[in-house]
Amino acid sequence: MNEGTLTAMYQYSRAIYRSVKDLVDPYVDRETNVSYRLAVLDACEETLQRLARDRRYFARPERALFQDIRQYFPIAQQGRVCAAIEEGVHAALAFIDDQIANGRFELGSSRCRATTRKGQPCQRTPLPEHDYCPSHRHLEPTPVPA
Ligand SMILES: [Zn+2]
Repeated sequence: MNEGTLTAMYQYSRAIYRSVKDLVDPYVDRETNVSYRLAVLDACEETLQRLARDRRYFARPERALFQDIRQYFPIAQQGRVCAAIEEGVHAALAFIDDQIANGRFELGSSRCRATTRKGQPCQRTPLPEHDYCPSHRHLEPTPVPA
């Protein structure tokens, strides 16, 4: 993952946070409200960073983020929160896919994801479209079609 992608993910997570932060449960005391907002911010950043790292294995990221933070919002606001998350996550996905299409994005697949017996990250190049090198291809989570 390059620096530009990280910066972009940070901006997408801030954008989601900005669009939902004022919807956080107003009927709790101020301190709790602040801690809720921080939890929401953390969840947004964590989700977007994971998205950049694990694009192909992160199914339904917008749903995962919504499940993480919905507890901090009144029921009446959850529809708006859900919509804001979908919009933000889809924008981030479009950005990542564009980066991939333009070859500017390292999917983490520039290096095999396996760990060697000595506990070091494997340095070999993965097979095209895969996360593991030929020696570690048995670790691939989905079977490789013949
Ligand atoms: Zn390997």
